Amino acid sequence: MKDIIIIGGGPAGLTAAIYGARSGKSVLLFEGKAFGGQISKSHKVENYPGFEEISGFELSEKLKKQAELFGAEIITAKVKAVEENEGSFTVAADKEYKARTVIFAPGTEPKKSGIPDEDKLIGRGLSYCATCDGNFFRGRDTAVIGGGNTALQDALYLSDICRKVYLVHRRDGFRAEKSLVEKARQRENIELVTDSVLLSAEAAPIIKSITVENKLTGEKRVIDVSGLFMAIGQTPLTADFSSLLPLDSYGYVEAGEDCTVRNGLYVCGDCRKKDIRQLTTATADGTVAATKAVEYLDS
Ligand code: NAP
Repeated sequence: MKDIIIIGGGPAGLTAAIYGARSGKSVLLFEGKAFGGQISKSHKVENYPGFEEISGFELSEKLKKQAELFGAEIITAKVKAVEENEGSFTVAADKEYKARTVIFAPGTEPKKSGIPDEDKLIGRGLSYCATCDGNFFRGRDTAVIGGGNTALQDALYLSDICRKVYLVHRRDGFRAEKSLVEKARQRENIELVTDSVLLSAEAAPIIKSITVENKLTGEKRVIDVSGLFMAIGQTPLTADFSSLLPLDSYGYVEAGEDCTVRNGLYVCGDCRKKDIRQLTTATADGTVAATKAVEYLDS
């Protein structure tokens, strides 16, 4: 019987592991895929206090090492189900594990755009991760879809290695930080294609162009690109736990700033319903969730 089982190895889950283990509790953390969550795919992080600049991958590695240093046990296995028993939880992963408390930190995954044959285009020019796949399009033309921080960061990253980058966004206002938008405007090889939606990507069999429509004029435009990067937001990875967790209509877990669902059950990071999803708010959540779990264990 562990004191704390954490589901998810992004910044929120790893911070919870650091706080839980450092409080002397036995901590077991599960990560289904790669450690570090979404941030490990960011090639450059400039807004995590204490680091003027660090790659998302390096930051994830540091968090993992720190959690292990304090005694957290980390397992790579997908958690399939969690069952609540009286005063404890059974977690089904590669086998069954038991814990007195569970902290959910499963994070989110990239949203799909819904263009025809989207799944078939993956690996044929379409990608959801510019830092993972951008290098395949070195010296060529690419498009990024979206107007949030991810889209702007992706466009800036790609503009360093690609000939031209088209940033296609459905409005003319951007959700992304002003400084990123300003940087993008100053790059000569980034073209902002605003008020425009992506209709399709043409491939034979590899993407050769995309078609976008200007929402104000109805005009359609074919843009020749080899790479298409989707950066239109995230879906919370909570569906497997819907019987245990209160979810809103988008699938985010409804829990307040105390990160507490009920005694013994906690949630942290991007999958929690909240206004601001940032690295710093994810690690803050991890701190709160683990501290609440420790308080409960000691009560
Ligand atoms: P986001 O902030 O939710 O932005 C999604 C963007 O995609 C928005 O511009 C949205 O347009 C657009 N969009 C949504 N659905 C669309 C659709 N079906 N078709 C076309 N466009 C669509 O997502 P994100 O950029 O992935 O960022 C997620 C969170 O992580 C944010 O809180 C962000 O600040 C954070 N983040 C932080 C860092 C960092 O700390 N370094 C890096 C990356 C991301 P509208 O604006 O019109 O809704």
